[in-house]
Amino acid sequence: MSRPVGIDLGTTYCAVATINIAGQPEIVRNSDGQSITPSVVLFDNGEAIVGQQAKLQRAAFPDDVVEFVKRQMGNDAWHFYPTAGDPYTPEGISAVILKRLASDASQVLGEPVRDVVITVPAYFDDAQRKATKDAGEIAGLNVISVINEPTAAALSFGVERGLNGTILVYDLGGGTFDVTLLKARNGDFGIVRTDGDRNLGGFDFDNAVIQWIKAEFAARTGEIIEGDVLEAQLRDRAEQAKHRLSTSDQAPVFVSAAGRNEKLVLTREKFEEITESLLARTQMLVEDVVEGAELTFRDIDKVLLVGGSTRMPMVTRMLTEATGQAPDQSIHPDEAVAKGAAIVAALRGGGGAPTPTPVVPGGHPIEVSDVVSHGLGVIVLDGATGLEINAVIIPANSKIPCQRADVFFTVVPNQTELKVRVTEGDETDLKYVKKLGDSLLKLQPHPKEGSPIQVIFSCDIDGILHIEVVDLADDKPLGEFEIDRAKNLDRKEIDRMRDALSGLEVQ
Ligand code: AMP
Repeated sequence: MSRPVGIDLGTTYCAVATINIAGQPEIVRNSDGQSITPSVVLFDNGEAIVGQQAKLQRAAFPDDVVEFVKRQMGNDAWHFYPTAGDPYTPEGISAVILKRLASDASQVLGEPVRDVVITVPAYFDDAQRKATKDAGEIAGLNVISVINEPTAAALSFGVERGLNGTILVYDLGGGTFDVTLLKARNGDFGIVRTDGDRNLGGFDFDNAVIQWIKAEFAARTGEIIEGDVLEAQLRDRAEQAKHRLSTSDQAPVFVSAAGRNEKLVLTREKFEEITESLLARTQMLVEDVVEGAELTFRDIDKVLLVGGSTRMPMVTRMLTEATGQAPDQSIHPDEAVAKGAAIVAALRGGGGAPTPTPVVPGGHPIEVSDVVSHGLGVIVLDGATGLEINAVIIPANSKIPCQRADVFFTVVPNQTELKVRVTEGDETDLKYVKKLGDSLLKLQPHPKEGSPIQVIFSCDIDGILHIEVVDLADDKPLGEFEIDRAKNLDRKEIDRMRDALSGLEVQ
């Protein structure tokens, strides 16, 4: 029997944690002795190498190294093609990473790891959450839950240090940005509101530095930097310079390209200037969330920083100016999320070995409630205009788990089929919503149009949607189903990938 663990499956780095005998969350180091593992995979002769080794090889083997795959979760059009072997989906690559994390943790804990809680950005949608769960399954794990990263971070803070009041979590990671408002009271952690941008993170700050390096190099030498190998090198240099600028006023950048060796110097001031618009986007989302919760910055008791990119001094400065208080930097941004996931793993269990129950200071038991980050609805015909519109059934920021129902009407006499087309988004106009998938149901024909059909949406504790449809004319349930998610793998593909992965050597 094995203990459940919490996994922070980050865009750039991952971490694993469990609960120790004292009931406190603790990071489980990887087999290199590190608390974090780069989310990078190198495919090499039928083997997959994950982590630091893969990261070090990315300049030498750009075609066989894949990273930032979290940004592709829920994108069915994306595949990675290693030079040899079959292509990989985002779920498949994530599964390879999870397999290495679980196998490292097994070695350290001295027991197989099976039950896991995996964290996702709060702003991940239904397809991205489902893809994350599928990745766990492909890796041969039992995913007890997927939970929101800011919730996990606040939980670990609460458990380690005790936390009461209204808290704003600003989470700027490698690839995503989330802002979350929550209320904590004696072990009760309730999310009030959340928003974010799934394509805004440290990666974009690196891109800005890469652009600057290219422009600077061209200005000095008249030469253009091109080619995959050089791009990968530049990305490393850019990230290193960015890290350096978190503690120094300037960073040297050495570039060897087109037969020239140049030492460029990036100042913090210049770095902040070229990334100003990225930071401003995060500020706008913070303001939206606070206003959306009908609060002002004066109502916020604490601002927590999560995610590696919050080490950039401009983040603290912007938040201090915007909120009127210095953010709390006492939690370890690389570890907080995994530790929070470990707490939820211990609370929800997975049928394996029991772990000590985590409690907050004062001995209070822990309760966690989260919200759905996007509205969920169906496409219907607008009676007034005859045009298709989005009818929201579960609005964004509804507390989960939740169940909401709405009644719709058949549109033609003797209608025999009903297509439930599920959407994600809060706007009525279909231009601004995402189509999650649909399901075709058989109807007992009713002679007249306008026969009432009830659609019941349930959003589970992981933020994943389940649907029930009832024919109200004869009170007959038409079934309970999961949508045929256009963006996700089907059962057969998941099974096939799990079998394929079990034969792959992962280091
Ligand atoms: P996370 O996904 O939370 O692990 O965050 C990873 C991101 O944090 C990457 O984009 C890193 O480049 C960035 N990061 C880590 N350390 C620093 C630092 N000292 N200064 C600036 N960014 C950092």
